[in-house]
Order: sequence, then structure tokens, then C-alpha cells
Amino acid sequence: VITETNALLLRKVDVRESDLVVTLFTDALGKVSALARGARRSKARFAGSLEPLHTLRAELTNPRRGDLFELSGLRLERTRLNLTASLARMNAAGRVLSWVQKAAPDRQHEPSVYRALTDTLDALDAPGKDPPLQATLAVAGLRLCAAFGWGLDFDNCVGCGNARPFNKSARVDAARGGIVCSSCGTGGTLLDAALLGTLSRAQRDAVALDETASELALTLVERVLVAHGDLKAR
Ligand SMILES: [Zn+2]
Repeated sequence: VITETNALLLRKVDVRESDLVVTLFTDALGKVSALARGARRSKARFAGSLEPLHTLRAELTNPRRGDLFELSGLRLERTRLNLTASLARMNAAGRVLSWVQKAAPDRQHEPSVYRALTDTLDALDAPGKDPPLQATLAVAGLRLCAAFGWGLDFDNCVGCGNARPFNKSARVDAARGGIVCSSCGTGGTLLDAALLGTLSRAQRDAVALDETASELALTLVERVLVAHGDLKAR
């Protein structure tokens, strides 16, 4: 079976003398690893398109056994030259790609993750001066967590399900998946009601986050990803 799909390059590792194993996040198949035969011997083999941050069009042949696809064709589908012209933007994009590399399960079709990922790269490719990187990352992280099904509940206690009283601060325990009331736990970070409301909205809609909210969101997102990454590794 050959699948043609849009994809983003997450990682490439040298194998043998002339080959590479690439990890791709694809629109059609989710995260897959594929053998790129001859990719190191000849740049022309894949038309120099084994680059992260651009959208690739990949032709993948199903493995006869095991998990390793074969990359039988590749070209650039959409370049992001504003993004690759700025080191700061590239670092931000690299962080988002590394989240997906660590968090995404193999061969699980995740169209909303793919969309959140490409939307973020497009936002980081905006022409003109650098977009607000921290806030873009924070929104991307919240969206990705929700897309993986690990969205944080900022409105109801994850222990007992009780709604957070309006206008009350609450503890957010990222590893447990949201806020915990005082009867259900003492871990996590105490956040005020306004911030909880903002983060709850940011998870659903594109909300512009200020610096404080961005930093907090990023901390929470990375805790969520670490928690789920650990679970996956076990
Ligand atoms: Zn509770």
C-alpha cells in the first residue's frame, strides 16, 4: 500500500552509509517512521526537501513487517521562508515540533493535531516583524494538548467534578488534568479566577494571551506533555 500525504519532518537519524530514518508527522497516518534509502548519498534523491518546518508531500510505502515505512517519494508542498529566516522563530517552531515528537503515539491518525501544528507553523511564518513568540507557543501548546485529548479542565474539579465557584481561585494540577478543589487535592499551582477563565477560553478559541498567562500556560502544557510522555514510555 502506498499513501501520499502531507507531512512535517520531526526528526532524522543516519543509518548505514547512505540512508536515513525519518520521523514524520503526517496528515493521513499520524506519526510514522520511514526509511529514506540513499538520502545521504545523493541530495537529489529527495530533491533536497528533507527539511523541517516546511510542509512536505510524502509518498510512503507500508512496511511488509515491523513499523518502518519506506519513503518512496518526497517534495516540498509549502515552504515557510519567513519562519526559516529567523532563528527566534525557528527555535519556537522547534519546541512545538519536539512536543509532538515526544507526545504523539505512533501510527495514530490525529487530524486535529496535524491542523494545530500547521496553523502554528503558519502563524510563525507571518511576514514582517516577529509575531509574539511566547504567546503563539502558549496557544499552540494548549491547542495541542486538547487535540491529543489531554485538555486541562479549568472549570470543574478533576476529582469530584464539582464546578469551580465563580470568582474563586483554584489549584491547577496539570498531571491530574485540571483544577482540584480543596477536598480533592493540595498539589498544583494556585491561580486566580481571571487567569483560569482566560486559560479555559484559550484552549477553545484563539485568544491573545498576555505575558503572565503565556508563561503559565507554557508551564502547564509542558507538565501535561511530560505526564503523558511518561505514561506512554511505561
Ligand atoms: Zn473535588
